[in-house]
Amino acid sequence: MDYYGKRMSKLIEQLSALPGIGNKSAQRLAFHIIHMPQEQVKQLTDAITDARENIRYCKECCTLTDQEICPICSNPARDKKTIMVVETTRDLAAYEKTGKYEGVYHVLHGAISPMLGVGPGDIRLKELIKRLEGDVEEVIIATNSSLEGETTAMYISKLIKPTGIKVTRIASGVPVGGDLEYIDEMTLLRALEGRVEL
Ligand code: ZN
Repeated sequence: MDYYGKRMSKLIEQLSALPGIGNKSAQRLAFHIIHMPQEQVKQLTDAITDARENIRYCKECCTLTDQEICPICSNPARDKKTIMVVETTRDLAAYEKTGKYEGVYHVLHGAISPMLGVGPGDIRLKELIKRLEGDVEEVIIATNSSLEGETTAMYISKLIKPTGIKVTRIASGVPVGGDLEYIDEMTLLRALEGRVEL
């Protein structure tokens, strides 16, 4: 089935290993890349290599960053006593976009899922517990409202409860009418404002 020659097949194989890229898309991308100016291809490969080499976890909140401590954690204006726990850096970015949250974050990089074999040791929970030894007043659990997100929220709240630190859970997002462009931010803000103590 090697219609395109070894090099082309190898490129297609690499691309199709990416999430959401099936064999057809991989072929389409491969042909696109082959027709791109060489300089542009170099910029693309350099960006991939550079990102992979230099992006790491923030030493405090575990978000992805190219610095030792991410810009949010190193911002003296942020309230370090309030930690919002999210599943991914993308969730963090969504809350940051609202521009209304002044605390800091903790990124778990996943959620507990007994079904998928993801246990508490597979997400960045240890790091969160370590942070609670510092001066923390509230932990806002903003994991998704999926089964995994709820499981994770329950697990974390049980873990934190004995420390006496306030634990809250964001309200599940109720979509509001109106301008579609702002619907996500509005939903996020409402969920944050409507958080309840666990
Ligand atoms: Zn950070």
